[in-house]
Amino acid sequence: MKDQNETISQITLLKQKLHAAKVALDELNEDRNTKLQTLLQFIANLSLACKGQNLELDNKLAKLRHQLSNFDRLDDALPELVEVERLLKGQYHHVMVQLEESRAGLGRVLRQIQRVDSAPDKLKKEVSYFKQELSKPLHTVWDYIPKVEQLIGFYDDILARHVDAGEKLTVLPKHRQLAHELAQSISEIEFRKDQRDQVLVIKEMLSGEIEVEGLLDAYQTILTLLIDNIAREKSASQEFLYALNDALSAVREVVSDSYNHAQRSHQLKHQLNREINSRVDNVGEAIVDINDITVLKSQITEQLSSLRSALARKEALEQREQALLRKSMETMRKELNELSDEASSYKERLFEQQKLNLLDSLTQLPNRAALEERMEQEFRNFQRHKHPLWVAVADIDHFKSINDSFGHTTGDKTLQVIAMALKNSLRDTEFVARYGGEEFVMLIPDVSSSDIDQLLNRVREKVKNIPFKFKNQRITVTVSIGAARVMDNELIHETFERADAALYKAKHESRDRVIIDI
Ligand code: GH3
Ligand code: MG
Ligand code: MG
Repeated sequence: MKDQNETISQITLLKQKLHAAKVALDELNEDRNTKLQTLLQFIANLSLACKGQNLELDNKLAKLRHQLSNFDRLDDALPELVEVERLLKGQYHHVMVQLEESRAGLGRVLRQIQRVDSAPDKLKKEVSYFKQELSKPLHTVWDYIPKVEQLIGFYDDILARHVDAGEKLTVLPKHRQLAHELAQSISEIEFRKDQRDQVLVIKEMLSGEIEVEGLLDAYQTILTLLIDNIAREKSASQEFLYALNDALSAVREVVSDSYNHAQRSHQLKHQLNREINSRVDNVGEAIVDINDITVLKSQITEQLSSLRSALARKEALEQREQALLRKSMETMRKELNELSDEASSYKERLFEQQKLNLLDSLTQLPNRAALEERMEQEFRNFQRHKHPLWVAVADIDHFKSINDSFGHTTGDKTLQVIAMALKNSLRDTEFVARYGGEEFVMLIPDVSSSDIDQLLNRVREKVKNIPFKFKNQRITVTVSIGAARVMDNELIHETFERADAALYKAKHESRDRVIIDI
């Protein structure tokens, strides 16, 4: 009995423990479910935050949110999770690629900003620091946004500065190129004496640090000067044509006057001749008809006196006619003399103009147009006689540094001296022109292949030995020369190209040397 009671009490105790364990398990389950619920809610919210990046992902996430909201369908959601994870990874990769592209885009914008020369040093430093920062990859879109803001700040800064400085435009390499070309064109144009100071100022400006506004002003001034020259030239030709016209109409008047006079005189003379003839006839008739000598005598006397008066009138008429003719001739001669003076002065001016058109105003050497003419002429000679003909291109070495160190005016003088040295080192039959800038072209006929090297090296040495002294400094200026001989079946411009290529080689092989293309 005692054992039975003990067993019952043990079972009761076990029951109680089991109940307690069940309650504890229920509590645990409830707690876990609450946490799972919170987690599911969190996932749903997180998926909402991802919304708007990719339509496919959005759809999947919406479906997932729906499945997760129903506890019973949690198992169905598991395969969906795998798919969503794949899409999420793809999206992450896509975002990373985009961020990399955006970083490259920022880099490009930054380089544009670095080209703005007028930016202050402080800004330039900031930009350079920013560039270093930008070399590190961006990990999130949030990293990107402050960078964009900073870039906008730089732009803002530059823009504000430009507005302050009267909206100064940035000087780009193409502006410098334009300035260089304008300077070159100006040196090839002959301006009037009263225009030269203005042109000199522009030349100085173009050789220094240019501004876009200055460049535009320079273009406008040069254009105005040229238009003025054209207008003057036009009015000079017009004046001449007016003078020619006046003279011609004066001559025409004189001629037509003389013609009218001549006609009238002719009629008068004819009339007088008839009168004289009839008087003579009358005398004859009187002699035949009249027998009384006294009557005859008086009749003849009368006839003779009217004959005399007719002859006197005829003589007077002829004299008047001659005087008129002399006067007309005199007027005509004067007009023609004036016209011829006018014509010869016009011809002289034209000739001068033509000469100027072929001369380089700075060095007084033939210019590029003259070179073209001479090239054609020498080439024709070459084709006819097949004598050797050389084209040589000379370019002053490091000429820019002369301008930079001693100023543009010194540069100009150097060009003049070297131009003269080149001219003087050649024979009369040889030709040198200023091709442009600090480049010269020589045309050398009748020199053999064995002699050309020596000849051109003599020219090179002559330039090298010019004792230049700038700011009390002894300076040696050298030239590099490339040359080529005109070959059969070759156009002279092709020879020029070969000579130019040889010059290029000379420049790359230490300069101050002659290279002949063979
Ligand atoms: P390289 O030895 O390679 O020829 O060097 P470089 O400096 O001579 O050649 P570059 O082509 O770089 O510069 C030519 C310079 O010649 C630049 C330009 O300012 C100057 N120049 C061109 N025409 C004139 C001119 O009429 N007067 C002056 N003073 N300078 C000129
Ligand atoms: Mg040069
Ligand atoms: Mg050059």
